[in-house]
Amino acid sequence: MKHDFSNKILPVLAIFAGLLAVDIAYSLVAAKIDFSSEAAAVGSFPDKWIHGSKSAMDNTDAAVQVHEYNEHTFILRENKAINYEGAFMYVFFGNGVAMLIDQGSTASPVLFPLREVVDEIIATWEQKHQQKVQLIVANSHLHGDHFAAWNQFVDRPNTLLVGLTHEEMMAFWGFENYPQQLLEYDLGGRKMLVTGTPGHQGSEIAIYDEWTDLLYTGDMFYRGRLYLEDWDAWVDSIQRIYKIANDYPISALVNNHIEMTDTPTVDYPIGTTWQPNEPPMEMTVDMLGQAYEATKVIKEPGIYKYDDFLIYNEIPWAYTTDP
Ligand SMILES: [Zn+2]
Repeated sequence: MKHDFSNKILPVLAIFAGLLAVDIAYSLVAAKIDFSSEAAAVGSFPDKWIHGSKSAMDNTDAAVQVHEYNEHTFILRENKAINYEGAFMYVFFGNGVAMLIDQGSTASPVLFPLREVVDEIIATWEQKHQQKVQLIVANSHLHGDHFAAWNQFVDRPNTLLVGLTHEEMMAFWGFENYPQQLLEYDLGGRKMLVTGTPGHQGSEIAIYDEWTDLLYTGDMFYRGRLYLEDWDAWVDSIQRIYKIANDYPISALVNNHIEMTDTPTVDYPIGTTWQPNEPPMEMTVDMLGQAYEATKVIKEPGIYKYDDFLIYNEIPWAYTTDP
C-alpha cells in the first residue's frame, strides 16, 4: 500500500518557505550598513603605488591596480605602462549602490579591462554584504584621460551612466547654480557634499565624503602640473574647497594623478611611463592652503612652482618645466 503524504507535507513546506522568506528579509534589514559614524571611517593608502617600469613593453603589472582603502572604498590606478597618465579612479559603496568615478585613459577592454575589474569588486562586495548594488558611472570632469573606458559600461545591467556632457552631469547631481552650489548627495546612506570646481575644466566637481572625511579634488588640485584654462574660475574653486576643508574634518585630499617627484618643486617629464620614488598621491589641507595663498598673489599667466604642485596658469598643456 502506498501512502500519500503530499497533503501533509505541502503545508509544512509552506510554513518553512514562509519562515525562510522572513529570515531573508530580516537578514537584508540587518545587513544595512551604517555610514553615519561621528569619527572618520579609517582607511589606508599603499606605501607605494605601482608606478610603471623602465621598459613599458616588458611591464608585467596588472592593468588596473586595486587598492582597498577600506571595505566600502576602493582606489584604482591605471598602469602607467599602458597610459602614462596613470589616472586614479574611485569606487564608493553605499547601501544598494556603488559609484565609479572616472574610467581611465584607455578604451580597449583587452588592454585595460576596467569593466571586468569593477564587476569583480562589486561581486565580492555583494557577496560579503548580502546586498545587490546598482552601479553609477560618474566622472570628475570631461577630459578624455578620465572617461576612455566609459564605453565598457554601456551594456552593463543595473547600471546608471551619468553621461559625458556638462548638461547630464549637472542634471545628475542636481546643480541649479553651478559651480557655487554646495549639494548634499546621498549614496545609499553615505552622505557626500558636492560642489563645482571649474578652472582646469568647465564641468569639474569636487566631492567630500562625510563617512571617510576624504576630500576628492580630481584634476583641479593634485600633486602635479595644474593646467588651468580659466584662472578666475580656479581661484573661486580653490577658495570654495578650502572653505570645505576648514568647515569639515579632513582625513586626506585625494585626486587623479601623480606628476611630482619626491624632490620638492620637481615634476617627472611629461609622458614618462616610469616614475620611481613617487611621493604619495594623497595631499594635506596645508598644501591646499598654499594653493589658496597662491590665488591671492598670482596675477599673470605663467608657470609657478610650489613644493608639491606646479601651477600652469593659462599655459598650453604641452609646455613643460623640463630644462
Ligand atoms: Zn583633466
